[in-house]
Amino acid sequence: MRDTSKHQGLRNKLAQVLERKGIQDIGVLNAIRKIPRHLFIDSSFESHAYQDKAFPIAANQTISQPYTVAFQSQTLNIQKDHRILEIGTGSGYQTAVLLEMNAEVYTIERQHELFKKTSLFLPKLGYKPKRFIFGDGYKGLAEKAPFDKIIVTAGAPYVPKPLLAQLKVGGMLLIPVGDETHIMTLFTRKSATEFDKKELGDFAFVPMLEDKQ
Ligand code: SAH
Repeated sequence: MRDTSKHQGLRNKLAQVLERKGIQDIGVLNAIRKIPRHLFIDSSFESHAYQDKAFPIAANQTISQPYTVAFQSQTLNIQKDHRILEIGTGSGYQTAVLLEMNAEVYTIERQHELFKKTSLFLPKLGYKPKRFIFGDGYKGLAEKAPFDKIIVTAGAPYVPKPLLAQLKVGGMLLIPVGDETHIMTLFTRKSATEFDKKELGDFAFVPMLEDKQ
């Protein structure tokens, strides 16, 4: 696994691009500058790694666009030691960003191939979530609830009830909702029974599917 000053230069540029698109959170920008994204995709496509675009990975899935990762991380206002549930581990790049921000991360993936690959790969880079879970994100992770933040990185046809139920009061769920285009939707838990809802624009994701595979 190689990381060079050339890669570092490309990462600095990518962080500048994201800054111009409105990313201001220093913790997010530092994570983008630090994480070797080229190691998260097939090495023959390395030249694509630091462009601001999504890219295919194993099992017909994609590594999210850097802007999307940065936007979701910034919106959730990640703080040190926050307990975070991530739905859709995928390549693990978003996971690495959350870990760089010193959060405590539980991450769920439904594709066994990706679950296996990423749970071996991320720790090799020094990124250690509390737990990699092979399972169905629609169910959340009741035994580790409540969470400060829940981030969904696949497009959900509807908002799964268990995810709302597993938030702390004051906690937030950020989830792209829709069928073809997805509306980034932020829920903030106001009390045991009340949630505030905000829509934050259109994004494109691979679909959130039910059951593990
Ligand atoms: N955060 C990832 C995004 C990967 S794409 C990255 O930066 O690479 C979305 C991921 O969500 C895919 O890996 C897909 O397999 C996974 N996924 C889809 N439905 C899911 C579900 N119900 N539970 C858990 N993961 C799911």
